Amino acid sequence: MKKIFLKRGKDESLRRFHPWIFSGAIHHTSEQPEEGEVVTVYTSENEYIATGHFQIGSIMVRVLSFEHEEIDKAFYMRRLATALDVRKSIGVVGREDNTTYRLVHGEGDNLPGLVIDIYGKTAVMQAHSVGMHTDRETIAEALKEVMGNTLKNIYYKSETTLPYKAELGQENGFLLGGSADDVAIENGLKFHVDWLKGQKTGFFVDQRNNRSLLEHYAKGRKVLNMFCYTGGFSFYAMRGGAELVHSVDSSQKAIDLTNANVELNFPGDPRHEAFAEDAFKFLEQMTTPYDLIILDPPAFAKHKDALRNALKGYTRLNKKAFEKITPGGIVFTFSCSQAVDKEHFRTAVFSAAAAAKRKVRILHQLHQPADHPINIYHPEGEYLKGLVLYVE
Ligand code: SAH
Repeated sequence: MKKIFLKRGKDESLRRFHPWIFSGAIHHTSEQPEEGEVVTVYTSENEYIATGHFQIGSIMVRVLSFEHEEIDKAFYMRRLATALDVRKSIGVVGREDNTTYRLVHGEGDNLPGLVIDIYGKTAVMQAHSVGMHTDRETIAEALKEVMGNTLKNIYYKSETTLPYKAELGQENGFLLGGSADDVAIENGLKFHVDWLKGQKTGFFVDQRNNRSLLEHYAKGRKVLNMFCYTGGFSFYAMRGGAELVHSVDSSQKAIDLTNANVELNFPGDPRHEAFAEDAFKFLEQMTTPYDLIILDPPAFAKHKDALRNALKGYTRLNKKAFEKITPGGIVFTFSCSQAVDKEHFRTAVFSAAAAAKRKVRILHQLHQPADHPINIYHPEGEYLKGLVLYVE
C-alpha cells in the first residue's frame, strides 16, 4: 500500500480520531497514489496512524480506520453490521409500518463518503468520494451479505455526488436486482421513491420524526408546506386532520411527486392542492389565512463563505411567514446547511420575528434523527436543525 507521511505536529487531530486529512498536513508520499486508492498514513516519526481513501482536493485522505487493517469485503461487512445494529437499537429495522431508514450516514458511521438509504427491499447507495466509488462493488457484496434476504435491489446513484474533476464518467444503475417497485412506507404512510431521478437518494429520510411531530399539530389547521419536494410533511398533515393543505415547490417535478404521494395515501381528497411556484413569490402574494406553515428550504449555504448571505436568506424567508401567519399560528422552520449552526439559525429566525414585530415562542428545537448519527469526533456531521414556533 502506498504511504503518506504527515508534517510534524499534523497528527494531532488524528489522535483525536478526526477522519479528515487536509492537503496542507501532508509532507510527502512514498509514491503518488491514484485517486480513490487506499493509503496508509504515517506521522513525521514514521509511526502508523491511519488508513483511508486518497483523493485530490482539500481533503486528501478520508480515514476508514485507525487500526492497521485491510480495507476489503470483511472490513465493509464489519462496518455495515455495526451500522445495522445501531438502526436496530433505534427501532427502525424490520417494521412493517416503516420500511425506510438511513443505514449509513458517512462519517457518522465511520464510512466517510458513503450514504446508504433503505427503501423497503431496495438500498440506494451514494458515493461522495472517489474511494467509495472505487469500492462500490465490494460494498454492494458486503451489503448483500449483511442484509440477507431482506434486500433485493441495490441502486447506485452517484452521478451528481462525485467530484466532477475526477472524470469518472459515472452513470447511475443497479448493482443488484432491478425492481421497479418504488413504494416505501414511513410511519404507515406510503410514498414513491424516485431513486432514478430524484434529489439525494430519492426522498428526504431525515425529516421522519419532525413530520411525525407536525402531524400532532395539524388538526383543524390550514397548512402551507413550503419547499415540499415529495410532499412528506403534507401527507402527515392530512393524516393529522388538517382542514386544508397547500404544497409549494418551484420544481414542477416535485409538485408531480407530491400529488402522486398524496393520491397514494388519500385518493381524491379535496383538502390538498399543490403549486409549482417560487417560495418568496408565493409568500408575497398569498391570501389564504394559514395557521401552520412549514419552511424547509434547500441548503442556503453550501460553504462557510456563503454564510452571511445564507443567514440573510433565512431571515427574509421567515420574516415573510411571520408577517402572514394568523394569530396563534405554528411555524416549523428548518435549515439543512451544515455551515449554519444552531445559534446562527436561531439568530436569523429571531431577527425575522423582530422585523415582523410578532410575539414568538420556541416550542421545540429539532434536529436530525438517530439514523443520521454524528460521530463525536466529527462535529461537522451535525447539519439539520429546526424550530417549532408559536406565533401570538
Ligand atoms: N421538505 C422536503 C424537502 C425539501 S428539499 C421534504 O420533507 O422532503 C428543498 C426543496 O426546495 C426542493 O424540492 C427544491 O425544488 C425546492 N426549492 C428550491 N428553491 C425554491 C424556491 N425558490 N421556491 C420554492 N421551492 C424551492
